[in-house]
Amino acid sequence: MIPLAVPNLNGNEAAYLQECIVSTFVSTVGPFVGAFETQIAELSGTTAASVLCSGTTALHLALEGFDIGQGDLVMVPALTFIASANAVRHAGADVWLVDVSAQDWMLDVDAARVAIEAQTDAHPNGRLHRESGKVLRAIMPVMIMGSVPDFAALVAMAKDFNLRVIVDAAAAIGTTYKNGIALGATGVDAVCYSFNGNKTVTCGGGGGVASNDDAYIERIKHLSSTGRVGANYDHDIVAYNYRMTNLQAAVGVAQLERVDAFLASKKKIRDIYSELSSNFKSLEPFPEPAYGQNGYWFSGVYYTGGDKNVDLEFQKHMKSAGIDLRPFWKPLHLQKPYASSLCEPMPVTDDIWKRIFPLPCSTHISDQDLNKIIRDTTNFWNKHEAS
Ligand SMILES: *Cc1c(COP(=O)(O)O)cnc(C)c1O
Repeated sequence: MIPLAVPNLNGNEAAYLQECIVSTFVSTVGPFVGAFETQIAELSGTTAASVLCSGTTALHLALEGFDIGQGDLVMVPALTFIASANAVRHAGADVWLVDVSAQDWMLDVDAARVAIEAQTDAHPNGRLHRESGKVLRAIMPVMIMGSVPDFAALVAMAKDFNLRVIVDAAAAIGTTYKNGIALGATGVDAVCYSFNGNKTVTCGGGGGVASNDDAYIERIKHLSSTGRVGANYDHDIVAYNYRMTNLQAAVGVAQLERVDAFLASKKKIRDIYSELSSNFKSLEPFPEPAYGQNGYWFSGVYYTGGDKNVDLEFQKHMKSAGIDLRPFWKPLHLQKPYASSLCEPMPVTDDIWKRIFPLPCSTHISDQDLNKIIRDTTNFWNKHEAS
């Protein structure tokens, strides 16, 4: 089976892991943790970063670091991986789901603005949602596929409504805003990454938060390390054990040494799949953002036709050809844990989610595998469009 995305570990990963073993620094203390944090802050254009054990915990502590929790709301697009919403719930807050825009598949700023204006009043900490009595504290734009949203519009809206912007950049390492501006230099409050195995840069598992607010990053570090004060067993808050280990960071440091090559490879794959989709009248590439340089975590084809069953047929065809093709993220408002969450109308999300087909996009995918994917995709859509 040609997998969707597997780690590329052909650099210094093994050597740095060996250093951890030899030095015995395999746990949360060790030189790679700090080195990785420095790399993440640099790449994000921020003064500080904290690395954690997953993207989910990064999002959770990004929220809790701003005291977002019980009685609060966070606005999240429905078209995202479920972890975005889980992190809000782990912090004790609730999600307010909003649609994505058809142009870029990201949080629809206009729809969000309309909903906030109609349903909330001013509040010292954000906006009071009249019906629920909860306080909207933050918006969480999701950089779907590694793409880039209109940060200026998001930040302006957040300013108008006194909200934090916490970016789910889980899969967007290396993506930049207009004119090469780093994600953390766009005026947002926090940028959260995942280093899960299927991401462009992986630690096996891991996450990170980057911000220009040094005290906030210190608070996240404190929250992630049991709230310990000093070297003895003194703890001043109920906190977590969410730290990244030196082993994970060792892999991360080696991965970031090659991030430019990874991004170049992702772009090449994107170009190949764009060309593939241009051969069919019912296919398009994933949207190209107007606001910066996409990191192209995932690429594939988007179906524009009217056949409601084509997703299952395409999946079956590719699976039997030995190519991993899965339905894309089922939106949050259709998931059991979030079915009764505050929810705006979802015309775009409902329409597009079954039309999205990420194709295999490992950074070191072979030409032979790419050719096979092109051949099998072409066979399927030739037949489909002829019928
Ligand atoms: C991968 C991902 C996450 C979760 O990260 P984990 O490291 O798996 O916890 C959250 N949001 C999005 C959009 C993701 O792609």
